[in-house]
Amino acid sequence: MDLSKKVRLRVGTNKIKFTMKILIMGPPGAGKGTIAEMLQKDLGVMHLSSGDILREAVKENNPLGLEAKAYMEKGVLVPDSIIIKLMKEKLNEDNFVLDGFPRNLAQVKQLEDEDIKVDAVLNLKVSEKTIVSRISGRRICTKCGKIYHLQNMSPKKDAICDNCGNKLYQREDDKPDTIKERLKTYKEQTEELIKYYSDKGILNNIDADGNKEAIYAKITGLQWIKKRKSKLRARS
Ligand code: AMP
Repeated sequence: MDLSKKVRLRVGTNKIKFTMKILIMGPPGAGKGTIAEMLQKDLGVMHLSSGDILREAVKENNPLGLEAKAYMEKGVLVPDSIIIKLMKEKLNEDNFVLDGFPRNLAQVKQLEDEDIKVDAVLNLKVSEKTIVSRISGRRICTKCGKIYHLQNMSPKKDAICDNCGNKLYQREDDKPDTIKERLKTYKEQTEELIKYYSDKGILNNIDADGNKEAIYAKITGLQWIKKRKSKLRARS
């Protein structure tokens, strides 16, 4: 894919503005959050995770978060009206990596009604075996949100975050029964977006069974990411 076709050019008085709006797709445990963090560090684009935004809203006792909580605990999607209200205010940036949103066609339409179109989609493909292993070993920092894995990315001190020294926890919805429900929800409601974005010609399938460095190397090997990186470098 040629980035120059995907990056929207907006010509101002004498300024050319590039946008880089990436959507990361994949079932729970595909590594969306980990890869989005790597893109954020590498490209300087903002990581917008709908799951993190919802968990934050629950923690803050925000009314929308409290409404969402019961759905999240069951592993089903929260109503579109809630997630759209929470996401809308974060989507003013020109460059971002969306992780977990949009998650059905109704959300895509809402996004497009706001004139927000993603430039490229990364579809992380993983086997069921990898999903179960990644989710059951996943631990997250209670404070900074850094993601660990008991076997593959363990913290230096048991159950303590290397970054900020706070405790790690296991997400309630990472427990076996809820994982099954989340996978079912993904198959029934989110997978149809793959065809939608494929028809638009902006879908990139990435084999995401390996370790994070190998997966990231496949992503940065994509022609449009390479071009984007050199444009960002030229601007700074
Ligand atoms: P995640 O961290 O992306 O796995 O999301 C955790 C949970 O938050 C999901 O199981 C849903 O209940 C909810 N959620 C996250 N993103 C969305 C979304 N775009 N639409 C509806 N529900 C969402």
